[in-house]
Amino acid sequence: MVGHRSENIVGKYDVLIIGGGVSGTALFYMLSRYTNIPKIALLEKEDKVAQVNSRGRNNSQTLHIGDIETNYSLEKAKVVKPAAMMIPFYVKKLHPDAQNKILFKVSKMILAVGRDEVAKLEKRYEEIKELYPDLQKLDRKEVGDVEPNITKGRRENEELLALYTLDGYAVDYEMLAASFISEVNKEGSNRSDLFLGYKVKKIKKVDKGYRVDTNKGVFEAVAVVVDADSYSLFFAKSLGYGKKFSLIPVAGSFYFSDKLLNGKVYTMQDKKLPFAAVHGDPDVQIPNKTRWGPTAKFFPVLESGKLSTSMDYFKSAGLFRYCTAKSFVKILSDYTRFKYLVKNALYDLPLVGKTLFLPNIKKIIPSIKARNLKKAKGFGGMRLQRVDTETHELQLGEGRIIGDNIIFNMTPSPGASVCLFNAVRDTEWIMGVFDNKYKFDKFAMENDCTEGYPCETGKETSVDFYSS
Ligand SMILES: Cc1cc2nc3c(=O)[nH]c(=O)nc-3n(C[C@H](O)[C@H](O)[C@H](O)COP(=O)(O)OP(=O)(O)OC[C@H]3O[C@@H](n4cnc5c(N)ncnc54)[C@H](O)[C@@H]3O)c2cc1C
Repeated sequence: MVGHRSENIVGKYDVLIIGGGVSGTALFYMLSRYTNIPKIALLEKEDKVAQVNSRGRNNSQTLHIGDIETNYSLEKAKVVKPAAMMIPFYVKKLHPDAQNKILFKVSKMILAVGRDEVAKLEKRYEEIKELYPDLQKLDRKEVGDVEPNITKGRRENEELLALYTLDGYAVDYEMLAASFISEVNKEGSNRSDLFLGYKVKKIKKVDKGYRVDTNKGVFEAVAVVVDADSYSLFFAKSLGYGKKFSLIPVAGSFYFSDKLLNGKVYTMQDKKLPFAAVHGDPDVQIPNKTRWGPTAKFFPVLESGKLSTSMDYFKSAGLFRYCTAKSFVKILSDYTRFKYLVKNALYDLPLVGKTLFLPNIKKIIPSIKARNLKKAKGFGGMRLQRVDTETHELQLGEGRIIGDNIIFNMTPSPGASVCLFNAVRDTEWIMGVFDNKYKFDKFAMENDCTEGYPCETGKETSVDFYSS
């Protein structure tokens, strides 16, 4: 182990995970269950796991497999599908009581409205139909049969086309994270320790690993995985990594209406925008309602609703650097993106916000009125989108920075859907850190989490950035 300090060392570990959202807990589970690494710890600043973006009400609860996500390329869809399907396979092995709290069967639809979108969706269907054989193509009448409110009150001459499946899933990612911890506890392993209420203040490289200072003492570890999502770049930069990245902070909030949809209905996405276009979803925690959103408001914080994280945003984003400013100007001078952000800034305004937001929902439910909508208070999270300040480009999706025995994972959507896949990928990397001294029982993992199919982690759902 590392270090020989006289100060109060709370623990010395082989692997330390920072951040107990669905990503960190999935890795904690993977390492504890399928490897023989002697000492593993997970540090989480809150007093429960999954209280930030993985919290049940802070995201859209969709298991993204690529069938209704029209912004995924076919290549990305091919990787995301088996990666995300690890969650249902894992959940189906749990006790039925646990299953019923985590995974919910739900129909899913991607809806194209108007001639242009219909043509695009026709083309998309031809591309993906072999990968998703369950996907049905529905014409206007068939759409009305499964989701009557979509056709009710709609102009007769408006073209509609949908791709639809009954075999979709909604996931309570907070409950999923809690189940990873329960599974580790069930093993009764004394190799794995969970520290709740431990806020990491500083990570420092030392002789043979890292020293991690928290509000409750110091930890030492050989390898560190920072699964702190919005805070990952903050810590990376503190160690000199990822300097070329900045962050566009986008807060996603929601509205509720009474139940107007039977399942999830997504709309066509603009590839220039990093987020899912507005969609309607049943909420797995709030019965008989439809949740609409998310909105996408530029808001300079790292955690939703916590103004205290604003300073940390400015530190992570490096906003005062010339190349950052130039990148922001370039990215936001794109008319589509600029219009999108300005419009979204207005959706959260009191009184008028929901009236302005209404046309997005009317695309799905033409007969809806502003009075049918209510702001979903306390729902919503942050999606921090990376910006490469060297190329001045927006980086869509997830990313990770790989350093010297340390990884920083940045996990906007579909990070939650592919948490188990990412955990396998990081476990393999950890095995390399220890020169394969320890064993990863991938066969047992595949048996539990992929029903025996090989988990091809060489194929990435995220973009990797190597730093030395
Ligand atoms: C509006 C919205 C809708 C979304 N919809 C979907 C969806 O439908 N499907 C999907 O797959 N994904 C969705 N996502 C993305 C999804 O929520 C994230 O990919 C996922 O929750 C990331 O999990 P995580 O564990 O990496 O991060 P988080 O859940 O944010 O966890 C990070 C953890 O790190 C901890 N932490 C931070 N700093 C410290 C510190 N200093 N010390 C100790 N601990 C620390 C935090 O407390 C937190 O628990 C959505 C996101 C948003 C915002």
